[in-house]
Amino acid sequence: MTPTGRFAPSPTGELHFGSLVAAIASCLDARSRGGRWLVRVEDIDPPREVAGSADRILAALQRFGLRSDRPVVFQSQRRDVHRRMAERLVDGRLAYWCGCSRRDLPASGIYAGTCREGLGPGKSPRSVRLRVDDRPVTFRDRIQGVVNENLAETCGDFVIWRADDLPAYQLAVVVDDSFQGVTEVVRGQDLLSSTARQIHVARALRMPVPSYAHHPVVMASRDQKLSKRLASDPIAMQTPSETLAKALRFLGQPCPDNLPLRPLWSWALANWQIDRVQATPRFMG
Ligand code: GLU
Repeated sequence: MTPTGRFAPSPTGELHFGSLVAAIASCLDARSRGGRWLVRVEDIDPPREVAGSADRILAALQRFGLRSDRPVVFQSQRRDVHRRMAERLVDGRLAYWCGCSRRDLPASGIYAGTCREGLGPGKSPRSVRLRVDDRPVTFRDRIQGVVNENLAETCGDFVIWRADDLPAYQLAVVVDDSFQGVTEVVRGQDLLSSTARQIHVARALRMPVPSYAHHPVVMASRDQKLSKRLASDPIAMQTPSETLAKALRFLGQPCPDNLPLRPLWSWALANWQIDRVQATPRFMG
């Protein structure tokens, strides 16, 4: 099977250094093994979308020499498939319509299963929740090592179709990774806590479970994630080779100084080693 990686940005702001790191790591991981690398714009959340952001992210990737090996997929165009998959899970009784609103949820954030056996009196269907069970989901992350999560203890039955009639990220990401033949998910550690849910969705839909690698997030300071939603630190677009070198060093790859962009990519492809990526969060130096 051809190793297939992807970068899946949400168009909620500019491409920042942290997401560039995810793009570079996922690309090198797949291509250094003769695989392919894809880009998918995760534009399924119109309330959070920033106008023009998808175009600017794609243009920024181009400037760094990052080109998808297949046409870019826009997740918003796959809503019908997401909907069918949610319905399939409801039909198979693996998921159910829930009438609870945010106000009905306990402070713990763990859903108590109120609508598991049917909507409570006076409630109308709002969202679809996938049932979880009490067995831990275990996986080996290629950077973080073995991870165990018991979904009944961390979140309970979780939403796969939202009350505002949109697919939830946890459903759409799994359906589209499978559709695009993604075998390797390489992304920031901030998404590690979503992985067990995504494996659970994939198993419920009988879709293949990809391998996972979560690189450290880029921290601007001790307690802040460098998030594009905060529009932090715009990338130095004038000097893509310097920024690429910085990203490679952040990922533990000891690249030579002062190489122009193309030779730097060649070096990175020939020398990429995922075992050099550290597991713990790192600060921007
Ligand atoms: N769209 C998500 C984000 O930008 C990433 C999804 C993923 O890599 O699984 O945070």
